Amino acid sequence: MLIFTDQIHSRFHFLLMNRRSILKTLGLLPLPFGLSQSAMSENMPSSDQTPKNKDIFKELGVRTFINAAGTYTFMTGSLMQPEVVEAIRESSTAFCLLDELQDKVGERIAVITHAESAVVTSGCFSAMTLGLAGVLTGSDPKKAEMLPHLEGTGMKSEVIMQKGHFVGYAQALSNTGCKIIQVETREELEKAINEKTALLWFLHVQSDKGVINHEEWVSLGQKHQIPTMIDIAADVPPVSNLWKFNDMGFDLVCISGGKAMKGPQSAGLLMGKKNLIAAARLSMAPRGSTIGRGMKVNKEEIIGMYVALDNYVKMDHNRIWKEWEQRIAVIEQGVKTIPGIKTEVRVPSLGNVTPTLRITWDPSVIKMTTEEFREKLRAGNPSIEVMGTGDYAVNITAWVMKAGEEKIVAKRVGEVFRT
Ligand SMILES: *Cc1c(COP(=O)(O)O)cnc(C)c1O
Repeated sequence: MLIFTDQIHSRFHFLLMNRRSILKTLGLLPLPFGLSQSAMSENMPSSDQTPKNKDIFKELGVRTFINAAGTYTFMTGSLMQPEVVEAIRESSTAFCLLDELQDKVGERIAVITHAESAVVTSGCFSAMTLGLAGVLTGSDPKKAEMLPHLEGTGMKSEVIMQKGHFVGYAQALSNTGCKIIQVETREELEKAINEKTALLWFLHVQSDKGVINHEEWVSLGQKHQIPTMIDIAADVPPVSNLWKFNDMGFDLVCISGGKAMKGPQSAGLLMGKKNLIAAARLSMAPRGSTIGRGMKVNKEEIIGMYVALDNYVKMDHNRIWKEWEQRIAVIEQGVKTIPGIKTEVRVPSLGNVTPTLRITWDPSVIKMTTEEFREKLRAGNPSIEVMGTGDYAVNITAWVMKAGEEKIVAKRVGEVFRT
């Protein structure tokens, strides 16, 4: 791609360029990885997720697979809705001001999610970092430049959470310079609150691992005038979770865009109180001397995230649920009569709420470890990924599969068990 730094130079060259190189400069004819002209035009972003999109993976020597595991970041999450891909392609042809776009998109997202305000972030993780940054700095841009150094600045420096809610993602909070304080009971929580307490953080997916429930958490925050934040990263479906926690009174709500919503994998939402969202944006691009500058979201993904959300809430979730159940049933039927195998379909009550097929086997009948089984599926054609869940046990979900892939999975899983 040609890049000009000098305007006059650039205009001069523009006049000399033929149509093709102009298109190329405008980014309309990307030439990725030395693809031929014909292969290239086929690789233009398209709304259909057809196998031809795999050419670039082939070119790179990167394995693609049927995802029968779920929305895992290391497996690149989910496939974007065709409408999202189309919105990304369309929005890539014009400039706009980043802040103006976040303002306008944020207003729409806030309406959908019953929040006062919202902003598109680069995932749930950065939503948490930026939301907490906003709590710490308030409306003072100079404070935003001081993060993650809190000592001697007058900013608060502690986040309280329940011990059972502590997971690796809490690093998103530590990134601001804050210390994590873990408590178990309501009494411990009230004792831990002091003038340094910035935030009370709640992790929905682990809400059964703490004694203080959502409503109580919110009311404790209100009582002590400390903002509350909830991480609901992987907690749609149900779709109502998009507004439930805003309605409940959490000051900040963070969710991933690239899981069940099938938006861009590196997008997410920070929703919440108007003053806090405005404050969080002081630590976001385009502002440069901030901890959030590296968490930039491009205009295409901002728009893609909005379209993903807007479409997601309008989907026929009952129909989709039935589709998932049918796909899982096809896979279960395909394998459950194999000697030594047990199957069970469960729906997790928290996080990744989707019909999940658990297959376990008797190692004296089927002499394979979980890893050997996964490796055989992986090595097949097409390659398939499932999740290992302990000794001689795997989980299969159907929510990020494409229609029809369940038949391939049923067949391959059966073949691997029978070998
Ligand atoms: C996936 C996940 C995150 C991180 O979300 P990203 O959108 O990938 O940044 C945070 N918290 C929990 C509980 C998650 O499951």
